[in-house]
Amino acid sequence: MAEKAILYDATKCTACRGCQAACKQWNENDEYIPTPSDREGVQAENWGSYENPPDLSPQTWLKMRFTEVDKNGKVRWLFTRQACMHCTDAACVNVCPNGTLYHHELGFVAYNKDTCTGCGYCIDACPFQIPRSTRNLLTGIAKADKCTFCTTAGLDRISAGWEPACVKTCPPKALQYGDRETMITEGMKRVQTLRAKGYNNAYLYGEKELGGLHVIYALEDDPQVYGLPVNPQVPATAIAWKKVIQPIGWVLGALTIVGLGLNFLIARKAKMSRELPAKKEK
Ligand code: SF4
Ligand code: SF4
Ligand code: SF4
Repeated sequence: MAEKAILYDATKCTACRGCQAACKQWNENDEYIPTPSDREGVQAENWGSYENPPDLSPQTWLKMRFTEVDKNGKVRWLFTRQACMHCTDAACVNVCPNGTLYHHELGFVAYNKDTCTGCGYCIDACPFQIPRSTRNLLTGIAKADKCTFCTTAGLDRISAGWEPACVKTCPPKALQYGDRETMITEGMKRVQTLRAKGYNNAYLYGEKELGGLHVIYALEDDPQVYGLPVNPQVPATAIAWKKVIQPIGWVLGALTIVGLGLNFLIARKAKMSRELPAKKEK
């Protein structure tokens, strides 16, 4: 099956945040957003940015990031998405101990919230600092959350053959969805057009990073100008977890089970040998 991807053209984005709202609405991520007159709410305070809300959360899987750049005495306002990049070399999948996070057959990283134990390993490992979690104060249960590529059970747009909610809603068509190869071709065309217009640093982010991302950005400047990590890497601890610590854990677990089994057999044999002479005396 051909892998799918979202292409985000940062140069067409108007930062209207329609995608943010659509993501929340479709995925039923209701959240208490205080109004400016509500002085109780943290978000009612001016914190020096038009970004709203100020950060991702278990109820906010997509947020538009605004970056102000001073270039030759002129202020440029750059916009980017902040959401899961759906990495091929996904650190979160590497460290997830029970397969809650997994690669969907179409390439992106889906997850099954029901089996999440809230261990938080994915939060520590993600090179883009994306997953968030909260703990239920009554039950003590924690769950991680992030963009599911619109594949949440019961709300699965992809299996229905639809585009993700954020893509569907984007007014200037800054978001596209389709076969990953097609999205890369379209993205490269856009980058070449930008370079021809004098944006010499225009760049297609996600074509090669982390084995290939499934959310690809067409940028008019270097990734670091947008606050994106240049050459992001899976942390060494995540690789060690997958290749060394987890297999050792499985071996130790298997040895423990074998040991318990042997212990049971030896104890049973000893018990039987104590009982046999007594039966003979009868
Ligand atoms: S809906 Fe489109 S234009 Fe609006 S913020 Fe999202 S990507 Fe940008
Ligand atoms: S961006 Fe982070 S959470 Fe998303 S797939 Fe990559 S490592 Fe996982
Ligand atoms: S793909 Fe779906 S879940 Fe992910 S950011 Fe877009 S609307 Fe939200």
